[in-house]
Amino acid sequence: MEINLVSDTVTKPTPEMLRYMFQAEVGDDVYKQDPTVNALQANVAGIFGMEDALFFPSGTMANQTAIKLLTQPGDQLIADKWAHVFNFEGGGVSFNSGVSCQLIDGNRGMITADQVQAAINPPDFYHSPLTSLVCVENTTNKGGGACYDLAELKKIRSVCDANGLKFHLDGARIWNALVANSENPREYGKMFDTISVCLSKGLGAPAGSLLISDKETIRKALRIRKILGGGMRQVGYLAAAGNYALENHVSRLAEDHRRAKEIAAVLQKLNWVASVEPVETNILIFALHSRVPESVLLDKLKQKNISISTLGHGKLRIVTHLDYREVMHSYVIETLQRMSF
Ligand SMILES: *Cc1c(COP(=O)(O)O)cnc(C)c1O
Repeated sequence: MEINLVSDTVTKPTPEMLRYMFQAEVGDDVYKQDPTVNALQANVAGIFGMEDALFFPSGTMANQTAIKLLTQPGDQLIADKWAHVFNFEGGGVSFNSGVSCQLIDGNRGMITADQVQAAINPPDFYHSPLTSLVCVENTTNKGGGACYDLAELKKIRSVCDANGLKFHLDGARIWNALVANSENPREYGKMFDTISVCLSKGLGAPAGSLLISDKETIRKALRIRKILGGGMRQVGYLAAAGNYALENHVSRLAEDHRRAKEIAAVLQKLNWVASVEPVETNILIFALHSRVPESVLLDKLKQKNISISTLGHGKLRIVTHLDYREVMHSYVIETLQRMSF
């Protein structure tokens, strides 16, 4: 039994999902003739109460398309220092959009309205880049699955409105936030100009993301997706996985959250663990006592068929997901409890 807790992207389609994919009715999506893709797009737009949505091969491409549409070359966007759009999209912000980033030293990957206000360059001061966009992540990835307070997001929206800025949500794991806090996705739809969501993280689809917005923005997004090489043909097979996942794998995210919290509770009691960050969703970050080298723990776990990842600086990460089942969970808890250094 191999237990991979490195990321929630490692999941494979369940047999039921695969059956559903096989049966999908497909067409050429570049001609907008794939009924399964069209249904997924309408479904996801509806969930967030927005006008339209567009299917993308990856969350990176959906984010990059949003940034391209909401900025002009030379502009600056505001994001947390750990933001995926800045750190993990290959420098696409500058490559694709000619945009720089004003990074904020936020809390667990989250920024506040006051910090956003302070980071805006005065628009008349033509020596500085023009601030045009704010990007936030919910849940945060490097921030350990932390969830924004909706009230703070509303305040950031007000700062954006007062300063003529656009507001993008990198919602790769928005499903986790919605489930953890029993939120209504329409609240997000009302607040953001664009939202990206992933189907291949907690929801367990093999690939796929969507960008959600108003009709006009999505009409323009189609051209950017084409330019980036993201137009796909009979991609309804993947969209079917997404439709299946939305129907069957959203509410069960609560199990992933419970298991992450249970592992955190165990780690907290171990004398070789220095600290455990608060767990809100399916990501758990913890630090070892300085006497225990990371590599020693990683190797020991590997011998027990458990993989976790290191974030560097003595921090380690565990991510629970669809393919991490209860039997594996019991085994992981026991293994951790028995380990000593
Ligand atoms: C995974 C992820 C993305 C998208 O990544 P892809 O691998 O391109 O699908 C975007 N933002 C965050 C926060 C993520 O965790």
